[in-house]
Parts: sequence; structure tokens; C-alpha cells
Amino acid sequence: MDFDLSKRSEEWRERLQAFFDREVLPRHRAWLDHTAEGEDAPFMQDLQRKARAAGLWNLGLPELGEDEPGTRLSNLEYAPLAEIMGRLFWAPEVFNCQAPDVPNMIALQNCATPEQKARWLQPLLEARTRSAFGMTEPDVASSDATNIATRMVRDGNDYVINGRKWFITGAAHPKCSFLIVMGVTDSDADRTRRHSCIIVPMDTPGVRLVRRLRWMGCEDHVAPIGELSFENVRVPRANLLGAEGDGFKVAQIRLGPARIHHCMRSIGLCELLIELMMVRSSERSAFGRTVMQYDTVQRWIAESRVELEQARLLTYRCAWRLDQAGHHGAWRDVSLIKVAVPAMLQKIADRAMQVFGAMGGSDDTPIHQALAWGRLLRIGDGPDEVHLRQIFRMEPMPSWSIANSPYLSAHPS
Ligand SMILES: Cc1cc2nc3c(=O)[nH]c(=O)nc-3n(C[C@H](O)[C@H](O)[C@H](O)COP(=O)(O)OP(=O)(O)OC[C@H]3O[C@@H](n4cnc5c(N)ncnc54)[C@H](O)[C@@H]3O)c2cc1C
Repeated sequence: MDFDLSKRSEEWRERLQAFFDREVLPRHRAWLDHTAEGEDAPFMQDLQRKARAAGLWNLGLPELGEDEPGTRLSNLEYAPLAEIMGRLFWAPEVFNCQAPDVPNMIALQNCATPEQKARWLQPLLEARTRSAFGMTEPDVASSDATNIATRMVRDGNDYVINGRKWFITGAAHPKCSFLIVMGVTDSDADRTRRHSCIIVPMDTPGVRLVRRLRWMGCEDHVAPIGELSFENVRVPRANLLGAEGDGFKVAQIRLGPARIHHCMRSIGLCELLIELMMVRSSERSAFGRTVMQYDTVQRWIAESRVELEQARLLTYRCAWRLDQAGHHGAWRDVSLIKVAVPAMLQKIADRAMQVFGAMGGSDDTPIHQALAWGRLLRIGDGPDEVHLRQIFRMEPMPSWSIANSPYLSAHPS
């Protein structure tokens, strides 16, 4: 087994790192200032142009077509690049690698008709628009997707949609022009064939942004979260993604990459948290020695490193398996990292906050957002419990019993 990055991967990593250091990081303070004022960063489009010109565009899309803009990298090649972007919450947007657009692009690549691709995918690939994915509903336990209750009723050549969605990432972004909505098209069908996904333009009459939502008091400036209502929303049948009843299939195609990309970025964020702990604890003294000289702090940093390296290897293996075996072949690995990485992020952010003292909870550091982000990932895209159940179900039962196990001593009869 070779654990080093391939030569090609290393070259991409160096190129992205150089661009990040030269163009992105120096603008971080300005980005914070603008978003604190509720403004968009005025340099984003310029940065995106530069990134695209430098060939650092749509990096997380292994299935890009010849005529689609971007860099076709494997999931494994993308992993170290996503880590670099993960150090700043807004950096992925510079390279058109932000959620939820990338998973939506993947869903469209796999399920859209040529006409749908021209109308909805192409503008996304060029960052001319933004998108959202609407599954979760306030009135049902949405971690069980079979509960999703929004109605999508056929009426001639249209579907008429009625329902309510919340915690829809990106739906409150002013540039969000469409969302992929999951709803019930046939309540009598088998429970995994009841739902379909349909593309709904945000300006369709009856679509209403009820309110913006925050998570643990944090604003998502890259993809602001919305609650939406749908009242007699009429959408042409041609907007259906895949066949009627394919809702689960579409959702699963986009969820695999969504989860693994979050994990890749979280690893980069944890690298930053460890660096923050190192620097802060070396610069501050309490009771006659630097904070770093305390065993507890050394242990926190070392334990963070142990957990981070484990999580990185697991994530790389998951990316490799996704490349080798596709979404179905990587299902278990995606669940493994989806549980392991957010728990690690939460733990490391918690330690970093302790090392920083009061400053760790202020807006002067990204630590409280990292903590909130780790906490969110334990619920979003499927709560821990659902993934753990999945992992448990895939655990093979050994062929022996306790009474005849070759591993145990003879049982007295
Ligand atoms: C910041 C943020 C952004 C989000 N973005 C999106 C988005 O863009 N689009 C979208 O559609 N949704 C989005 N979500 C919603 C997210 O995917 C759901 O919150 C998640 O799937 C859980 O659904 P729920 O909130 O209805 O919780 P519920 O389904 O009510 O579950 C509550 C709890 O029940 C327990 N539970 C559930 N199932 C099991 C089980 N099998 N075994 C044991 N315990 C169980 C778990 O502890 C779980 O946390 C977002 C959420 C957040 C917080």
C-alpha cells in the first residue's frame, strides 16, 4: 500500500495551495468585514475568474463532460484540495466547489435530460447561478426520508406542488434560481418509490421564502439557509429529474458526494484548529509557564493529531472506493466517515476553544463556527444514529456460536 499522494495529486495540491496563499487568504479579513456588514464580498467574481483561468475550477466533479468547464479529478485527487479549501468557510466558492451546488451538479449530471442540463446544470458549472436541495420538512421526522410529505400531483403536463420545507441550505441566497424538491408523487407505491425529485425555479408563483434560518446562532454566508412554503406551485412535467418514483435514487446520488466533501473540508478545518492551538498556547502564559507547557494542552494537541490522521486515512479510503466502486460500492465507507469526522471536528474544536479561553467563543476566531459546523454535521445529511444503524446492519455475523467458538475456552456443561 502506498499512502503518499500520487505525483499528479501532489502537483494539483501545490497549485491550489499557491493560489490559496496568494489570492484567497490575504482577502479573508476583508471577506469577514463585508459579511459582518451583510454585504457580498465585492472581489468574489474576480477571484472566480482568476481561479477558472488558472484551471482551478469545478474540482470536485469527476464526471465532467468534455464540453463542461472544469478540471476532471478523481475523488481521491480532490480530497487534499478540499482540505485546503476547508480552512476557510468561504474558500470553496472561489473554485465553484461549494455545497449544496456541487452535489446538485452531480445529481444533474447523473439524472438530468440534455435539455435540463443545458438549462440548469450549465449555469451552475459556470457559477452564473446558485441552487438548493429541498428534502427536510418541519412537520415530519426527515431523517427517515420515506416520511417526506410534500405533495406533487400530476395535472395535465404539469405537477402541482404543496408543502413546506425547512433548513434548506442556499435557498435564501439571492442568486439561488432553482431548487430540487423531493415530494410524494404516488402514495400507493412501494415506500421507496413514492417520491420523486423535480426542478423548481425559485421565481415560480407559489414558492415563498418564509424566513432565513441560522444554525446555533451562526449565519451561513456562503449558502444562507431558508424555510420555504409551496402553495399550488405549478411546474412542467419536463422538470422531473429521472423517472417518477426515482426520488430516493436522485437523493442518494447527491448525498454520497455531499457527505464525503463535507468530511474532506472538515479535515482541513481541523488542521487549522491544531495550528491555532499550537500558536496560541505557545504565546500565552499562566501561573509561570506557557499554556503549551501544560501536559493537558500537549495531550489535547497530540490526541487531536492522532484522531485527525485516522480520519484522513478513512476519508481517503472512502474517496478511493467511490472512484473504484461508485456510490453503491462506497455506501458503508461514506457512513463510517460521516460518523467519525464530525465527531472529531467537534472534539478538536472544543479543545481549541478551551485553549483559547474566552477568545475562542468570540467572532475573532473561527472556533465557535467550527464547533457549530461539527455539531451540524452530526445531524445534517442524516443524523449519526441513522448512519450507525446502517453500519451495524452491514456488520457480518460470524459463522460460529458462543458454545462452539474456537476462540473461547470449552464451556462447562
Ligand atoms: C444547518 C442545516 C442545514 C441543512 N441543510 C439541508 C438542506 O440543504 N436540505 C435538506 O433537505 N435538509 C437540510 N438539513 C436538514 C437535515 O438533513 C435534517 O435535519 C436531518 O436529516 C434530520 O432530520 P430532522 O431534523 O427532521 O430530525 P428528525 O428526523 O426529527 O430526527 C431527530 C432525531 O431522532 C433520532 N433518530 C432519527 N432516526 C433514528 C434512528 N434510526 N435511530 C436512532 N435515532 C434516530 C436522531 O437522534 C435524530 O437526530 C439541514 C439541517 C441543518 C441543521
